[in-house]
Amino acid sequence: MNIILFGAPGAGKGTQSALLVERKGMRQISTGDIFRAHIKQETRLGSEAKTFMDAGQLVPDSIVVGMVEDVLKDLGGQNFILDGFPRTVPQAEALEMMLLNNGLKIGKALFLEVPMAVLIARLAGRRVCTNCGATYHVLVKPPASPGVCDLCGSAVEQRQDDKEDVVLTRQTAYATSTEPLKEYFAQKGQFVTVSGVGETEEIYNRLSAHL
Ligand code: AMP
Repeated sequence: MNIILFGAPGAGKGTQSALLVERKGMRQISTGDIFRAHIKQETRLGSEAKTFMDAGQLVPDSIVVGMVEDVLKDLGGQNFILDGFPRTVPQAEALEMMLLNNGLKIGKALFLEVPMAVLIARLAGRRVCTNCGATYHVLVKPPASPGVCDLCGSAVEQRQDDKEDVVLTRQTAYATSTEPLKEYFAQKGQFVTVSGVGETEEIYNRLSAHL
C-alpha cells in the first residue's frame, strides 16, 4: 500500500519513514530530504528552495509539485511513503492528478499526532548528521562521541530551520497550510490518526498496524 505520512514539524515522519523503508522495503519520498540534497549539490532548485527553508516557510507549490512529479514517474512499482508532501490543499489536489496520470493510488493518509510541547522539545534537541542524515537528540539519543555521527563519522549539527525562531514560523506554516489536509483526507476516506507520542518502536507498531 502507498501512504501519505503527515504531521507537524517534529512529529517523527522521517524517523518512522526510515523504519518503514528498512523493514517493509518501501520507498521514502521526502520532499525536505530532496531539497536538502539539492542544496548540498548547489543546484538551481536548491538555491530557490533554500531561502524559504531557512526562513521556516513553505517552498512555493509550483516548485514542490514539479519535483514530486519527476519522482512519481520513476517509481517502478515500489510501494512508497510520501513524507512531507502534500503540505497544502493545492499540493494535495495536484497529487491527485499526478497519481491518476501515473496509474498510482494512495491507500491511507496517516496523521502522526503529537502535542505542541513535545514537538518543540524534540526540535530544540534534534541534531542531524550533515552527511548521511541520521538523526540524534541531545538528551534522548546523543551520538556516542559528541558532534560525531555514529554511523558515518561526519559532523552532527543542528538544522538551521530547527533554531528556535524558525521553528515557530514552521509550526505556524503547518497550522495554517497543512492542518486543513486532515479534513481533505477525511472527505476522501483516507484519514487515520496515529499517536506519535512514546517510544519509536511503539509508534512504529501503531503505524504499521494500518498498512
Ligand atoms: P521537512 O524536512 O519535511 O521538515 O522540510 C523542511 C522544509 O522544506 C520545510 O520547512 C519547507 O521549507 C520545505 N518543504 C518540504 N516539503 C515541502 C512541501 N511539501 N511544501 C513546501 N515546502 C516544503
